Amino acid sequence: MKHYTHLIAGNAVDGTSGRFAPIYNPSTGQQSAEVPLANVSEVEQAIAAAEAAFPSWSGTSVLQRARIMTRFTALLYKHQPELAELVSREHGKVIEDAMGSVLRGIEVAEFACGIPHLQKGEFSDNVASGIDIYSMRKPLGVVAGITPFNFPAMIPLWMASMAIITGNTVVLKPSEKDPGCPMRMAELFLEAGGPAGVFNIVNGDKEAVDCLLNDSRIKAVSFVGSTPIARYVYETATKNGKRCQAMGGAKNHMLILPDADLDGVANALMGAAYGSAGERCMAISVGVCVGDEVADRLIELLTPRVKALKIGTSLDKGLEMGPLVTAEHRAKVMNYIQMGVDEGADLIVDGRDFKLAGHEDGYFLGGSLFDNVKKDMRSYKEEIFGPVLQLMRVQNFEEGMALATDHEYGNGTSIFTRSGAAARTYADRVEVGMVGINVPIPVPLAFHSFGGWKASSFGDHNQFGMEAVRFYTKVKTVTARWPESTIEADFSIPTLK
Ligand code: NAD
Repeated sequence: MKHYTHLIAGNAVDGTSGRFAPIYNPSTGQQSAEVPLANVSEVEQAIAAAEAAFPSWSGTSVLQRARIMTRFTALLYKHQPELAELVSREHGKVIEDAMGSVLRGIEVAEFACGIPHLQKGEFSDNVASGIDIYSMRKPLGVVAGITPFNFPAMIPLWMASMAIITGNTVVLKPSEKDPGCPMRMAELFLEAGGPAGVFNIVNGDKEAVDCLLNDSRIKAVSFVGSTPIARYVYETATKNGKRCQAMGGAKNHMLILPDADLDGVANALMGAAYGSAGERCMAISVGVCVGDEVADRLIELLTPRVKALKIGTSLDKGLEMGPLVTAEHRAKVMNYIQMGVDEGADLIVDGRDFKLAGHEDGYFLGGSLFDNVKKDMRSYKEEIFGPVLQLMRVQNFEEGMALATDHEYGNGTSIFTRSGAAARTYADRVEVGMVGINVPIPVPLAFHSFGGWKASSFGDHNQFGMEAVRFYTKVKTVTARWPESTIEADFSIPTLK
């Protein structure tokens, strides 16, 4: 069994709290590792290491930082299969999907390599005679990242690459369910020539998070996870005067108009609802069918395919779905399926009885498909985060758009149609942060930015892209003159002539 450590100031540091969390292989249900849960003194040690590294790192030339990030990116590519295997083993997503998720993280590191251009300030020449104004984007200091279980490569890279490249030093607290991949990536950063103390990892749970939220040396907190914790993190961090972005849960609707290519819609729904066993914040969990004909035809197309999903252990090739992350999470998803039945929705395919021969202790669940889900049902209002697709029937476009707009969550949504006008109206008016037009999972690329609306995101700035440059830097503005004659006293507010 593997014993994880923390990674502080470039060194593997054993946990001293005496508290550990088990890590399981979701395909077998066997414990594969244990991870230490940090106490206050261990978190403080990591913060101190990051604080000590900050003056030198923030003073390192932007080109030198970019070169280290370029070497780090190259190492991430080289180790992509190893990182993906770590993701698959601890998270349970199938290996091809894990490879893709690592790539989506590397893309952010790649974007970060362009920082000499991205972090340029602004300059106004001769705003008054002989006076110039210029502004700079300065790093904040020590920043914290707190990440969820479902993307153990991608989300730590969203935060760490952008925070580090802008000149900050980082304490990352990964999910205690799958810390293997972030630990390995922090080692690769050192191998790339990243100075010790710039990228630290403390493993832990609420105790570590609370310490990060309350320590005055932490200047900003980036969080991704469930909405109740995101709200708590945002409120606590901002109360303590920190900059904070906290991304939460989701319930993503796909609006399907009668003119859509329904074979294409069925294909899109299969991947978007059941890929990664539905454990994606951008998974489509609700299909909104405009008209009964659309719904009836989709049920006909989806039912045999959901029943025939290729499910297996995460390292086997050519599969569509692996197990869920833990036994508790599987039980939670099963409870939501029962809730949907009890609330009166029609369970067309029930994935609860699925068993993988030879892997009866794995956390497997088949795909489930509901029809006639109604907006007052609790199983609709809440995030399930599993391989469950809920179909709803509406009469028209406006009624369908209102569902996504009125829902508490507003992470992603998509519309499938052949009508440009309908798609444009939807993209313009729906109250959701990321919209796909005939694209089921609209996750923007690294040079745009990622973020939902409403209860899916608290704070002002999105993840990655220029939004991350803004989040991880503060603006300093200088007004300068180099006078050739003596400056005269002036008792009124300076107005520049
Ligand atoms: P989670 O909220 O349980 O945990 C996220 C992080 O918070 C972990 O590091 C965990 O250790 C920590 N944490 C847990 N309980 C805490 C507490 N009481 N106090 C302080 N810290 C605590 O989320 P999860 O189950 O790991 O991840 C799944 C959730 O993340 C889903 O809701 C999913 O939608 C969401 N998610 C959102 C996005 C997004 O960008 N909006 C992306 C990925 C995942």
